[in-house]
Amino acid sequence: MDDCDSLTLPQNGAQRVRESWLERFAETPDVLKSPELEHTIVRVLDVEIGGDDFITMAGPCSVETEDQLITTAKHVRQAGAHILRGGAFKPRSSPYAFQGHGLAGLKMLDRARAETGLAIVTEVMSEDDVPLVAEYADILQIGSRSMENYTLLATAARSGRPILLKRGMMATVADLLRSAQVVLDAGNPNVILCERGIRTFDTALRNTFDTGAIALLKYISHLPIIADPSHAAGHSELVPALARIGIAAGADGLIVEVHPNPAKAWSDGEQSLTFAEFDEMMASVEPYIALRAIGLRNSADVRPMEAVG
Ligand code: PEP
Ligand code: MN
Repeated sequence: MDDCDSLTLPQNGAQRVRESWLERFAETPDVLKSPELEHTIVRVLDVEIGGDDFITMAGPCSVETEDQLITTAKHVRQAGAHILRGGAFKPRSSPYAFQGHGLAGLKMLDRARAETGLAIVTEVMSEDDVPLVAEYADILQIGSRSMENYTLLATAARSGRPILLKRGMMATVADLLRSAQVVLDAGNPNVILCERGIRTFDTALRNTFDTGAIALLKYISHLPIIADPSHAAGHSELVPALARIGIAAGADGLIVEVHPNPAKAWSDGEQSLTFAEFDEMMASVEPYIALRAIGLRNSADVRPMEAVG
């Protein structure tokens, strides 16, 4: 570019230089809204994710004991949760930390589903484990640390189970959409995106909750988006506020860590809510969920994406 070109640029005005969302994310066309596909609704047991209902997934970070899991499952169900979370295969920051119970943990999740009727979301970390985890889980979670493992994504996608795709902690929105495209390309349309905070220069919280990304993803993509205030905050006292902000930004649901005794949790105790704190959070998000419902009813007025270029 010579000097002349750069000098003429401002005279073109904002309309000329503005890139369209479609062009910007052209690499991943199938994740973008189109007139034919405005919303993907992912159906799991009797739950619809990405539809009119707001969905709460809750449970411990790790499956520890049958008693811990079942008491948590019963509590979160009666408090209004729809899906039970809990890791049997755990990606940990330290290689010496608890890595999960594996198959024994999956069996506990199976029992919790039988007792409560809650659907199960649990992480799969390796391609080799996909058939086993898919046998027990209703939704396969791809963790942040695995978001760019395309062979894992494609293998998990081919299991036919819906995929909860957590944004990598160093991943851009475009990176997240590329990973979602990999799942769609493998023939699985049931992708649920998850914003769980990213690494930034600010280390005050565990991560920086990127709520702008939630608003953007809701605007450009037909895929449901779930907010994870637990991993974003890293501190239980901030989880309810981030949950409310996530809903206000447009999330279709939450995934929240809850433990009967967070001080004794085998992983992520600092960010896990007690049962009483979970009840309080559920009450405090109600007005935000009501506002979301009004927003959905009015969304017929929203201009189609092409028109905003
Ligand atoms: C989890 O959900 O417990 C977890 C490990 O999440 P993330 O992959 O987002 O760190
Ligand atoms: Mn966790």
